[in-house]
Amino acid sequence: MPNEKTPLLRVVDTHCHLEQAEFLHDLDAVVDRALEGGVHMITSAITPDTWSRGLDIAYELQNVHAAIGLDPVLFSDLESVLDCIHKNASQLIAIGEVGLDHYRTRDHSERECQRSAFEAAIEKADDLRLPVQVHSRSAGKKAIEVLSSMNAHSVHMHAFDGKASLARIASREKGYYFSIPTSVVRSAQKRKLVKAVDIERILVETDSPVLGPDRETRNEPMNVWMALREIASILKREEEEMREILLENTLRLYPGIRTK
Ligand SMILES: [Zn+2]
Repeated sequence: MPNEKTPLLRVVDTHCHLEQAEFLHDLDAVVDRALEGGVHMITSAITPDTWSRGLDIAYELQNVHAAIGLDPVLFSDLESVLDCIHKNASQLIAIGEVGLDHYRTRDHSERECQRSAFEAAIEKADDLRLPVQVHSRSAGKKAIEVLSSMNAHSVHMHAFDGKASLARIASREKGYYFSIPTSVVRSAQKRKLVKAVDIERILVETDSPVLGPDRETRNEPMNVWMALREIASILKREEEEMREILLENTLRLYPGIRTK
């Protein structure tokens, strides 16, 4: 059942995976901690066996919003994901994550299959007027090329590991959003990214259960505050000012968060 009281909205963890096995035993406690911190979440289910759990969690909880996507290496499940998106479109805040993973996929023809699946997902997102959350591991340049060639309308690059100069251009000239993960506290590449992205296009995420402040420990949405504080310090802003900017950016891309 939806929460009785409207939960406080202070910051949005724009990309996490609450439906994954790591949260099976204590999801209530994780969500309670997020609630206390005024954290809303977009949970992105990316495997056929977790899609319905992601949708259920978002249905139950007012501060959790659902995205459905496909791990790039599972490109052969394209038809199933398009079908799941189609059937549940009214419940979705985004399509994703979808994209390219050249780190895990080295084979040329498999990379081509990933690209076709990515293109189909972008097309679906555009049809439904939903933002697309993009995974682009070791394929940042390629992913931006695909998105531009298709004139994708609302783009959210998550945990971008490409060159900061590419992010600078994509955020300023194409209006793409980039979410900075919690690992910014330990990653020089992510610190560089913060400085490069247009300040009106920065979002925050945890990518929980991974990309935490400590590589070995399970990450959780409440830690999005650590990313926010780090971004404020890198950009030499007050924490509250940075929070307001990030929330405004998030609601520009995801207005449905306010109205759920
Ligand atoms: Zn993710």
